[in-house]
Amino acid sequence: MSTLHAGADPLALVREDLAGFGGYASARTAGLTGDTWLNANESPWPNDSDAGGALRRYPDPQPDLLRSGLADLYGCRPAQLLVGRGSDEAIDLLVRALCRPGGDAVLITPPTFGMYAVSARLHGSAVIDVPLVDINDGFTADFEAIEREVMSRPVKLVFLCSPGNPTGNALPLERIEALARAVQERALVVVDEAYGEFSQASSAAMLIGRQRNIAVLRTLSKAHALAGARIGCVIADESLVAVLRRCQAPYPLPTPCIDVACRTLADSARAATAAGVVSVVAERERLRAALLACVGVRRVYPSQANFLLVRFDDAQGAMERLLAAGIVVRDQRAAASLGDALRITVGTAEQNNRVIDAINAVETGQ
Ligand code: PMP
Repeated sequence: MSTLHAGADPLALVREDLAGFGGYASARTAGLTGDTWLNANESPWPNDSDAGGALRRYPDPQPDLLRSGLADLYGCRPAQLLVGRGSDEAIDLLVRALCRPGGDAVLITPPTFGMYAVSARLHGSAVIDVPLVDINDGFTADFEAIEREVMSRPVKLVFLCSPGNPTGNALPLERIEALARAVQERALVVVDEAYGEFSQASSAAMLIGRQRNIAVLRTLSKAHALAGARIGCVIADESLVAVLRRCQAPYPLPTPCIDVACRTLADSARAATAAGVVSVVAERERLRAALLACVGVRRVYPSQANFLLVRFDDAQGAMERLLAAGIVVRDQRAAASLGDALRITVGTAEQNNRVIDAINAVETGQ
């Protein structure tokens, strides 16, 4: 294999004590064939409540149809993709496979999604903050500072969120690739694209072929409206995917969730999802313009996601008025540098109108 552009071997980033670790060998792993399956201590008959009896058996840990459907959706090879219980599970697997328990460090860029730090803390790994910088166009990552930290501290994972939650900004792919190249001997750069469908930016998945220390997280929870099915994935170099699989639970995906996810990947369902994304994006821009016109709104950040980050003169008052109207938004005031901000998910046109009315009522006292 040419190493000219492929970058360093990402297996070198995996915990040394996991070298040769095979994980749990389930009844499925053995790969035997037959017509009478008595190898997994399953019941010989279905439960009365299980019409069709599909739940009597343990599910395929990585169903081919689901894996190849997701690979097609995200533009990678099936072997580069591991499906799990939401991208939350992928975050946890990455921390457990790369950081030594009670050691190493994870770099995050606050304000950002909370699970990177939660997984790191549960594992006993340090969390290093390199805050996003707030410039005229919105937030962006301080790539020079990230590189400096990775080169001088025991950072194994850099979590970049693009589009960012709660900031809504997409990060430039060329900066992500340059960062990954600079730190390739030391860290894996993880690009969380949970909101990628709502963005015009290309996916960092296209970089993995030439920069093997990049991983991408995707999910069916947002644009595909399947948050309750808990289907997410990590896309990475195949060797790393194989390691992560060995760190995962034996049967991570419930059968009904596999089935609904496979239906979601059919052409007609994908077309409906794409149409839904177009409406959310149009509503996002309409809501943003309307919020910018509200008295008491200081700033509405441009967003490449399905939410808006809004700064208020009186965020507490805005929150109370929204709650009084029955509308629950996400309070961001505890996050560093967001002491006056709320995050509002884009809803239906009718719901968004109610948001505007409630926020306007803040100032008019209605
Ligand atoms: N990443 C980001 C940026 C998120 O906002 C979320 C959910 N809020 C997740 C990952 C987790 O998504 P899931 O586990 O549902 O795939």
